[in-house]
Amino acid sequence: MSETPVMKFDNRFVSELPGDSERQNVPRAVHGACWTAVAAQPVDCPRLLIYSPEVAADLDLDEQAMTAPTMLAALAGNALLPGMVSYASCYGGHQFGHWAGQLGDGRAILLGELINRRGQRFELQLKGAGPTPYSRRADGRAVLRSSIREFLCSEAMHHLGVPTTRALSLVGTGETVVRDMFYDGHPVDEPGAIVCRVAPSFTRFGHFELPAARGDLDLLRRLVDFTIDRDFSEHRFDPGRRLLAWFTEICERTGRLLAHWMRVGFVHGVMNTDNMSIIGLTIDYGPYGWVDNFDPGWTPNTTDASSRRYCFARQPAIAHWNLERLADALSPLLPNPNELSAGLDRYHAVYASEFCAAYAAKLGFKSWLNDDADLLEALFDLMHHGEIDMTEFFRSLAGLAVDDPELAVVRTAFYREDLAGQVAPALTRWLDRYAQRLRQDGDSAAERIARMNRANPRYVLRNYLAQQAIDRAEQGDTTMIAELLAVLRHPYDEQSGSQRFSAKRPDWARHRAGCSMLSCSS
Ligand code: AMP
Ligand code: MG
Repeated sequence: MSETPVMKFDNRFVSELPGDSERQNVPRAVHGACWTAVAAQPVDCPRLLIYSPEVAADLDLDEQAMTAPTMLAALAGNALLPGMVSYASCYGGHQFGHWAGQLGDGRAILLGELINRRGQRFELQLKGAGPTPYSRRADGRAVLRSSIREFLCSEAMHHLGVPTTRALSLVGTGETVVRDMFYDGHPVDEPGAIVCRVAPSFTRFGHFELPAARGDLDLLRRLVDFTIDRDFSEHRFDPGRRLLAWFTEICERTGRLLAHWMRVGFVHGVMNTDNMSIIGLTIDYGPYGWVDNFDPGWTPNTTDASSRRYCFARQPAIAHWNLERLADALSPLLPNPNELSAGLDRYHAVYASEFCAAYAAKLGFKSWLNDDADLLEALFDLMHHGEIDMTEFFRSLAGLAVDDPELAVVRTAFYREDLAGQVAPALTRWLDRYAQRLRQDGDSAAERIARMNRANPRYVLRNYLAQQAIDRAEQGDTTMIAELLAVLRHPYDEQSGSQRFSAKRPDWARHRAGCSMLSCSS
């Protein structure tokens, strides 16, 4: 019996879209092509640190397949399995509000498109597998800390019900990578790693922006046709309005995505247009973070600390700005580009309705009523000024007795005694108002609690938890990665013995690098 796992690949991106005729793997501008053939750079001592059993199952890979030496070689970039091809894709993007020109997969190498037994398509992508023509001055590698963060968070997001790229595996390369974490002249050797990411499509807004910016309308048209055909095949867009209908679909998906982020307290950190998925997934986990104390202005990304362009509360508006850049890119293909504004309007409408539905569920309401917006605004204000923990507050709120609303129920969500004292009177009044609203719904407590517990996670990948798993893994102990993955697979269930994974941020983590301050250096 052969040890090599059998997988079926069809690789449409490389067979249907133009590739780069130049084969040299040196940093350069790539014109007239969507991809460049490039081999991963082999590593000496790869080790499979963990894999996601659910993603493996999606790919029809069992434990034997996942632990085969040939699989490890593929996941480390040391060899290709039969049917795989390896290439980097070409895209551009707006970074921090400015057009940045060509970016491309600088450290991501695609391994082709796997078709599982159910006929579902998955692109596989190694992040950190070595340089490509799109690496510019960087090394094409990724460090263990950022790879652990991507592996755990993308899986956590999936189990929370948030659209996201997935992670199949985390491989330690056995090699070191030099990084100056805060760009302040302190480079250090860090352990290297490679994540194998999985998604139906890794295509980004920036894939369309680059040919548009270069005036290469042929390439733009081909990429649009290909994407609609491959990634939106379940949609029968009206042929006369195909591009407009497709753009509207992208806007709607992005609206749903942003409502999810705002519901769970996820801050992406780098919402550049090259980090926006055309199929509406969360993509590119870098200096992201989870809101602990509710702070609309919080950003985990130190690079963004002064302008706060990508802070928590601005995310929905930034997504709209990014969609406008995509609309700009598509405009040359339309006789009347103004019609794209209908899609942008749909973004607002879908975001608003999904956000309201999500918060109705979080607050335990049967449905969202007009006056609920005032109630929620007042709550956000109290949570902000009282520095109340978002996850802990909403989860605890289900315990409120509607006939006797007591502040004590949400007392554990406070970080600071002095602020708790300050907001207590206003919060007590708010809880009275809220209890009255719940009585209006007339649900049984059991119904309401069940609804709230399905909407308010007990466990999220708190920034300090990821950092603890990283600290241990850097000492050679990867057990906490597995423990976190196990807990985060069921974020809405109370799990006995797992209280430490739902604990609020401890004091030591408030200003520690990796816990509240992250950089793009990864
Ligand atoms: P990011 O900020 O991670 O979304 O990356 C922006 C651009 O820089 C993309 O084109 C990345 O592929 C590229 N990039 C980031 N880190 C590296 C690296 N270590 N080596 C090569 N390219 C990189
Ligand atoms: Mg990126």
